[in-house]
Amino acid sequence: MERLEELARLLGPQHVLTGQDAASYVVDWRERYSGQALAVVKPGSVQELAAVVKWCVAHQVPMVPQGGNTGLCGGATPDSSGAALLVSMARMNAIRQIDTDNDTMVVEAGCILQEAQRAAQDADRLFPLSLAAEGSCTVGGNLATNAGGTQVLRYGNARDLVLGLEVVTAEGEIWNGLRSLRKDNTGYDLRNLYIGSEGTLGFITAASLKLYPLPVAQCTALLALESIDDAVAVLSVARKGFAAALTGFELIAANCLQGVVRCFPEQRLPFEGAAAAAPWFALLELSDSESEEHARERFESVVGDCLERGLITDAVIAENVGQSKALWHLRESIPLAEKAFGKSVKHDVSVPVSHMAEFVETTNAILQENFPGVEHVIFGHLGDGNLHYNVAPGSAFTEAALLERQSDIHALVHDRVHAYQGSISAEHGVGQLKRDYLPRYKSDVEMSLMRRIKAALDPAGLMNPGKLL
Ligand SMILES: Cc1cc2nc3c(=O)[nH]c(=O)nc-3n(C[C@H](O)[C@H](O)[C@H](O)COP(=O)(O)OP(=O)(O)OC[C@H]3O[C@@H](n4cnc5c(N)ncnc54)[C@H](O)[C@@H]3O)c2cc1C
Repeated sequence: MERLEELARLLGPQHVLTGQDAASYVVDWRERYSGQALAVVKPGSVQELAAVVKWCVAHQVPMVPQGGNTGLCGGATPDSSGAALLVSMARMNAIRQIDTDNDTMVVEAGCILQEAQRAAQDADRLFPLSLAAEGSCTVGGNLATNAGGTQVLRYGNARDLVLGLEVVTAEGEIWNGLRSLRKDNTGYDLRNLYIGSEGTLGFITAASLKLYPLPVAQCTALLALESIDDAVAVLSVARKGFAAALTGFELIAANCLQGVVRCFPEQRLPFEGAAAAAPWFALLELSDSESEEHARERFESVVGDCLERGLITDAVIAENVGQSKALWHLRESIPLAEKAFGKSVKHDVSVPVSHMAEFVETTNAILQENFPGVEHVIFGHLGDGNLHYNVAPGSAFTEAALLERQSDIHALVHDRVHAYQGSISAEHGVGQLKRDYLPRYKSDVEMSLMRRIKAALDPAGLMNPGKLL
């Protein structure tokens, strides 16, 4: 096609993919969404990307940015019209600079998160964003979705780790906002408009990121618990005992770990007897800046305190890095085990930690009243008030029958979340999955402000249409 020849001249023909070569890019990670693209293009520099965007504006071609394609809301999947150009950021993946005096690094958007973490570690620093998809997701995708992950408790969301951005705007201009300043009060915070905008305002091409000292020692434990109320009480004890050194607190329902062990027989639950049958587990992590011994002492004191108060029924404290990794591996394998067992109805929600137990109890009960026999698959970042509250077919539904009722289930769960002043998307974003629910839970004023921002930054409406708004 003549139009694609122009793109091939801009980027080189090997970086313009069509047909079978483009097939894997137009299906999302969960295989829940699939679409068609005019082509997949892979620009290799900011200038090439800017030229592609200008070409799209000239030809009125919609653009869908894509990083690692691990997003769980269909945000990086084009619609079925085949009109949009899918822009893969994979080739723009350099670590441009590491400044250890300033504790910052400048990383291009297509850099895989794990590579960014490694580069920081090689410079004796920590880049603390961490999530189970880190071997495939990209820094650009992390910022476009304002990813959370397992260390938000201590270091904040992706947004909190960014000092500056470089962006190719929806009109093909290059904005170099790559400032590495911790203080900069010079007007509107454009950086924070692009972060979390899910590719609907422009392309993030690079970011200046905050680095931290590497912890000297880490301690991890898996705790067996009787209830979410107890988990919330343990969180409170751990916050007091560890203060800023508490870097992870994950809540896991027993059926999630059973699913992991069934799916990946090489993994095992490290409990026996009554504790193995506990209904809930919590994964706790302490990052200490002094020594292994100091970390262990602090950890044993907090875990001992929880045992004495009867908040936990048992605890396994990792003896070494290998055991610690094995415990985290159990947690991080939950989404993979879920995927292997088929499709479920997912919710990524947050409610204030103080309402967490009540939210789960009442929502479970109402779901059972309306959809008897469904299975509740619940895990998440309790320390951040964020749960993955998923609903699986259980004994009473087939996968297809459950998915047919998906919007009723979403409405029921989201209404409950709203009743507790929660958020219907704590960390995965909105994409296509939650776009139509947003106006139900945001005020007209908020929706209108968001639409006006979109119109101002993407006047032709070509950036990732049909997502978020
Ligand atoms: C196993 C698993 C575990 C996960 N765990 C977590 C978790 O703990 N916390 C969490 O927050 N998420 C989690 N996720 C979701 C996902 O990994 C994150 O949303 C991640 O940030 C997406 O990055 P990506 O590069 O794959 O983005 P993609 O999926 O490619 O894109 C996501 C969105 O960002 C846009 N986008 C991508 N790159 C750019 C760019 N450079 N400029 C502008 N827009 C862009 C896309 O258009 C799309 O709307 C998990 C996913 C999986 C599969």
